[in-house]
Amino acid sequence: MSGSPTNSTRPEDDWLRDAAIARESKHLTRALTEYPSCGATIEVNGHPCLNFASNDSLALSQHPTVIARAHDALATYGAGSTASRLVTGTLPIHSELERKLATLKHQEDALVFGSGYMANAGIIPALVSRNDTIFADRLCHASILDAITLSRATLVRYHHNDVNDLDKRLSATTANGRRLIITESIFSMDGDAAPLSEIATLAKQHACMLMIDEAHATGIFGAKGSGLVQIDHQATLTMGTLSKALGGYGGFVACSTLMKQHLINTARSFIYTTAPPPSVVGAALGALDVLQSTPELGSSLLQRAKHFRDTLQHAGLDTGLSESHIIPIIVGDSDAATRFSKRLLDDGILTIAIRPPTVPTKSARIRLSTTLHHSEQQLTDAAARIIAAATQEGLI
Ligand code: PMP
Repeated sequence: MSGSPTNSTRPEDDWLRDAAIARESKHLTRALTEYPSCGATIEVNGHPCLNFASNDSLALSQHPTVIARAHDALATYGAGSTASRLVTGTLPIHSELERKLATLKHQEDALVFGSGYMANAGIIPALVSRNDTIFADRLCHASILDAITLSRATLVRYHHNDVNDLDKRLSATTANGRRLIITESIFSMDGDAAPLSEIATLAKQHACMLMIDEAHATGIFGAKGSGLVQIDHQATLTMGTLSKALGGYGGFVACSTLMKQHLINTARSFIYTTAPPPSVVGAALGALDVLQSTPELGSSLLQRAKHFRDTLQHAGLDTGLSESHIIPIIVGDSDAATRFSKRLLDDGILTIAIRPPTVPTKSARIRLSTTLHHSEQQLTDAAARIIAAATQEGLI
């Protein structure tokens, strides 16, 4: 063996370098940063910063009950679940978690997946295929779009939250086959809410299935964090994640028992992967216990977020139509969004600049994710610093 791996040339090096240069020229390079901890304040380059980039909305990742249940499950069952769910990977805690998620969501049953991404990747191709049609909101999350591609169904995208446009497209599409409408209930990059009742009415009128991604509503909206979906929406299924408000990791679907049986038999991202590990399942059970015993967590977060958002709006910042704990500050240009987030970081506020292709062109933004880690005083201080930075950047 001669030469070191670092100075050998590989056949792919040229196009990888070209791709990196192309990304850089559009200011779209993404890079990993290591943070020593997570919480309200985290250290960046040796300086404490207020963290507005985390999805730990209810601060449950650090909750003693959640940590204790994760420890217990680890001690009882070990580090791994050792097999896929259909082999020997289904432990009593998986079934317990599914029963409790079904109760939380007022559905007959639930099924846990490795992550929210995997849930979407498995559910959608299990519902529709080549000769079918999906009607999806233009702003649906990348995990939904990837799953649609996997399904090979025809995709019809409707204008964001626009029920008239959805109605028009449903009426104009006469193809045979199954039809599925997909929306998020709270949108991940805008923090706005879908008109679920109107969408559910259209689903009924046009005999479509209806799938609602509740990744950002679960745990926060509705009684005890049940989300925004109501029984009378008659959704075919709702999807959720254990990795945002519930503070851990994993995804799930809440649905009828008949649908669960179908997914167990057909959702490839459920079948061909190892079952979620005991500590992760234990953490989710702990988070559900906390939601039961302190049902006011979600509304406290929403109240704090509203006050914070109102302050930013009154100063002239464009927070879009956010009505949740996710608050965008829409800047437009990718470069301006990056500069703004860098200035905020210098001022002790950690936010992430979200740029195309994650959001549509010319809608680059700072995404502020408010959490219960933030005290009211910290939010007041943060708003003042954000407004000052926006003024210096010429954004207001
Ligand atoms: N759906 C939506 C709307 C999301 O925002 C996300 C995560 N950003 C997911 C699904 C995927 O969830 P997870 O992080 O658990 O994979």
